Amino acid sequence: MSRIIIVANQKGGVGKTTTSINLAASLAVMEKKVLVVDLDPQANASSGLGVYPEDTRLSSYHVLSDPSCSAEAVHSTSMSFLSIIPSSQDLVAAELELVSKPAREYFLRDAIMPLRDDYDFVVVDCPPSLGLLTLNAMCLGEEVLVPLQCEYFALEGIARLLQTYGLVRRRLNPDIRLLGVLLTMYDGRNRLSRQVKNDIRKTFPQHLLETIIPRNIRLSEAPSFGKPVLGYDIHSKGAEAYLQLAREIVSRHAQA
Ligand code: ADP
Ligand code: MG
Repeated sequence: MSRIIIVANQKGGVGKTTTSINLAASLAVMEKKVLVVDLDPQANASSGLGVYPEDTRLSSYHVLSDPSCSAEAVHSTSMSFLSIIPSSQDLVAAELELVSKPAREYFLRDAIMPLRDDYDFVVVDCPPSLGLLTLNAMCLGEEVLVPLQCEYFALEGIARLLQTYGLVRRRLNPDIRLLGVLLTMYDGRNRLSRQVKNDIRKTFPQHLLETIIPRNIRLSEAPSFGKPVLGYDIHSKGAEAYLQLAREIVSRHAQA
């Protein structure tokens, strides 16, 4: 059975999209069949995998408007084993259109559940908010992965995210679990990075993933070539870290 991983944090710039792209690509290199669902109107996961709005007819916007078109909205990427339902700017409208619909939190679930058996992993890249798009993702998924940037206010936003997660678990999707907190953009030479790591280890003793993603320029360069870092510089520290994350996740089970 496939695993559905929701990459969420309502803060922007913490590494959600970088993690979605590179975790998905690393799983695909391990010959796992992966579907990325880009749920951010900025469509960075789509362009980062070389899928641009002008090449696509259907996007996650259409899928949320009409869940029956989800299979048609799947696009291939340059990597075998890796497909994507891309995003487009229309997705901003999807959120507004959903507000007035009954069972508005379950549209993504209706769209993706019929496809899940075709994949080993579904990875959902969420927008930087806790609005209806992220709620739809949390009602679809069973495992939430929370990227956290090693900076001073890292822990502040996560309280609200965990509150939303708890609410979803109680009211909307009892199957949801926390896969883990992933430290991103870590710089071991920086005292603050080390301190944040220690604080987070104390706060989430069972939930902090062992793999830590270092700050690595290759990770930020790769998207402008429409490639995951594996396709851009396979020997980089960033590529190594995401391969290690994929291995850890393959062998790790989410906890309540
Ligand atoms: P989010 O999706 O949470 O907004 P992104 O993944 O888009 O965050 O990352 C924000 C910015 O930081 C992007 O420019 C990205 O290329 C860069 N970035 C992300 N992770 C790393 C990293 N480990 N090392 C260096 N730059 C990174
Ligand atoms: Mg993003």
